[in-house]
Amino acid sequence: MTYLPGDLIYEGKAKKIFTVQNRADLLWQEFKNSLTAFNGVKKGEFDIKGQLNRDISAIIFRYLKNHGIRCHYVDALDSNIMITQKLKMIPLEVVVRNKAAGSLKKKFDMPEGFDINPPLVEFYFKKDELNDPFMSDDHVVMLRLLTYEQIQKLKTTSLEVNKFLKKFFETVDITLVDFKVEFGLSEAGEFVLGDEISPDSCRLWDKATGEKLDKDRFRLDLGDVKTGYNEVSNRIKKVYGEKL
Ligand code: ADP
Ligand code: UDP
Repeated sequence: MTYLPGDLIYEGKAKKIFTVQNRADLLWQEFKNSLTAFNGVKKGEFDIKGQLNRDISAIIFRYLKNHGIRCHYVDALDSNIMITQKLKMIPLEVVVRNKAAGSLKKKFDMPEGFDINPPLVEFYFKKDELNDPFMSDDHVVMLRLLTYEQIQKLKTTSLEVNKFLKKFFETVDITLVDFKVEFGLSEAGEFVLGDEISPDSCRLWDKATGEKLDKDRFRLDLGDVKTGYNEVSNRIKKVYGEKL
């Protein structure tokens, strides 16, 4: 199948989104080399970041699809393009946590790496102007983003995604500490996993040494960011295949 990009409809911090010529149901997503943290305050980039995140996301979406999770992934083109189903995005960042880190660790003054069992599902309102605030279930319903029934469904699906992702990363000796996902609604009104799943949106620690291989390297100036992302990509490709 040949896809051609149409108009640029959105440029975010990590991706440019284009229409696909003659396919109103699809999007052309270009993964950028730029890297931001703290809601865009800290900025950086490295040369193959877009490619690595596209590759990692594509492999993960295909894995989840094979395990029965609805994902927007359609195809991977060139080095940093993903063709996806076009969704009506729900303005929520769904965070799932298996170990304490980042904002949760800070909020409750927990030791980093503290086991969270059962895993925690949290919602944040996706609104840069407000700094993506935490939302309770009641807040989500109050803003008419979802019904209680839909919230339950989304939580169940997010925990299922966590179960598969944990296994996926365990196979390559990586601990999945936490991650953020975004869902949208398909034309048929079903929840579909959108956006990306990459070292930008997950905390990933080497199982043996605890070394951070994700965006915390950039957030906390822990060393070469590219080395971490490359390590994740190489391990995954070795097990789950190079072919995209
Ligand atoms: P941000 O908007 O946070 O800066 P990005 O640069 O990654 O993030 O931009 C990608 C945008 O595209 C996000 O707003 C995301 O919600 C949206 N998006 C991701 N997947 C889809 C999809 N399948 N359909 C519609 N929008 C999507
Ligand atoms: N996350 C994300 N985008 C955001 C906020 C968080 O991808 O806008 C991811 C982050 O990489 C981590 C998880 O969600 O894997 C939990 O993040 P946390 O709430 O600890 O916030 P942070 O430390 O990023 O401020």
